[in-house]
Amino acid sequence: MQTIDYRPHVPVVRECDVLVIGGGPAGIGAAVGAAKTGARTVLVERYGFLGGNATASLVGPFMTSFSADGKTQLIRGVFDELVRRMEATGGAVHPSKVPAAVAKSAYMKHGHTGVTPFDPEAMKLASAELCLEHGVELLLHTSFIDPIVDAGAVRGAILHNKGGLQAILAGSSVDCSADADVAARAGVPFKQGRASDGLTQPMTMFFRVGNVDRAGVDAYFRAHPEEIEQRMAFSSCIRAAQANGDYTIPRERLSLYESPQEGVWRVNVSRILGVDGTKVEDLTRAEVEGRRQVMEIFRFLRGYVPGFAECTLIDTAAQVGVRETRRIDGEYTLTLEDLISGRDFEDTIAYCAYPIDIHDPKGAGGGISNKGETANAYQIPYRCLVPLGVEQLLVAGRCVSATHEALGAIRVMPPSFAMGEAAGTASALALQEGVPPRQVPIPWLRQTLAEHGAYLGPNV
Ligand SMILES: Cc1cc2nc3c(=O)[nH]c(=O)nc-3n(C[C@H](O)[C@H](O)[C@H](O)COP(=O)(O)OP(=O)(O)OC[C@H]3O[C@@H](n4cnc5c(N)ncnc54)[C@H](O)[C@@H]3O)c2cc1C
Repeated sequence: MQTIDYRPHVPVVRECDVLVIGGGPAGIGAAVGAAKTGARTVLVERYGFLGGNATASLVGPFMTSFSADGKTQLIRGVFDELVRRMEATGGAVHPSKVPAAVAKSAYMKHGHTGVTPFDPEAMKLASAELCLEHGVELLLHTSFIDPIVDAGAVRGAILHNKGGLQAILAGSSVDCSADADVAARAGVPFKQGRASDGLTQPMTMFFRVGNVDRAGVDAYFRAHPEEIEQRMAFSSCIRAAQANGDYTIPRERLSLYESPQEGVWRVNVSRILGVDGTKVEDLTRAEVEGRRQVMEIFRFLRGYVPGFAECTLIDTAAQVGVRETRRIDGEYTLTLEDLISGRDFEDTIAYCAYPIDIHDPKGAGGGISNKGETANAYQIPYRCLVPLGVEQLLVAGRCVSATHEALGAIRVMPPSFAMGEAAGTASALALQEGVPPRQVPIPWLRQTLAEHGAYLGPNV
């Protein structure tokens, strides 16, 4: 490939203790966690608002933050603080009030007790206010370009915004870009896709519709209870449309979620296969194909799905939803077996219970728990956030160290908040202790997380 030599002098515009790259669920958790622990914290986000998939990609609800038996809220801390803030303005319903198998849980039973419906507009404001109130400095409209690496340690980042290229120096950084952009460019080894062929989960273009008649949808499920039991919601609608050539989407089950606003539903149905979220050509193709599918699905909803006959299209997501890209190689790689057995770790920083949810990279199938039942509550160890080979860097959210199968469960938003909070807190504590984040004293980290409201097991 032809290359050019380009070496600008970049002004150093800020210095901070903890630099967080990416303002999605993991980044919000990391920034608030670091700031609460006393670190001067800067959060960098390429868009003009925080939230990541929760806002830019219209993804929701927040999947379950409860144990599989629905008895214990496992994910609390920054996540719960944010949800309660949104709930106070009518922008969310607390997960303790959302049972399985109702409109707000997409008429799904398994893994769907205690989801959190929320309004993406409420999320944009509440997450920014939460960060600012905890003392986080926000840099929106700013893209991460490259890490500043010295002697194997990340010392800050080169960024780009309307002011041109700029540098920030930081004691420690947390990669919450979802794609491990910082880690990969710093030289951390990573994997992508499933072990057999490297393919990743498909992408989905979310959209929202208004004017849905919930009574009509409820009546449909009273007539078709077997679709709830068989995890095949709305499958008879799909079959009817397929018979007429009116449904060509490669997806055999609809996920339609009622939002907190009356008549407004999120549509998680489109499926874009064979695309790689680290390639801009694929992302470009996915945006166009996603919006083409949205129009087909919208016509199908009006024509075939009870309760949706008069629905209106509100919006499509600003960015296609990417389920999976790079996963770093960390000090520990979480496995499917760990999730099934509920394995205990000494350095656990989060408990979760969302099941394995892998959408078929090649076709219409896949989805919840197609790989075995996970434990009532399983654990994520701190070492999954600690990358191999590079210091002063932690990773949180969708790109942590896990197998393709394990990531299929922990990739959802509540665990991402919890992993982020742990990474931000650990970064701040390590700086206070004068050690690399890799060596942060684990009992101190766990005690601080618990003091800040995280759930770390029945005896903590
Ligand atoms: C189609 C789909 C459906 C899903 N359904 C659900 C669901 O119903 N419930 C649920 O809980 N989870 C769901 N998920 C999973 C969940 O949305 C993500 O895995 C989760 O958002 C991961 O959080 P994150 O913070 O790691 O990444 P993200 O939410 O992707 O946030 C990453 C942030 O980093 C920013 N960023 C990236 N690169 C740069 C850069 N170079 N410079 C500056 N900023 C950058 C992005 O703009 C973004 O704000 C779904 C995901 C998809 C794609």
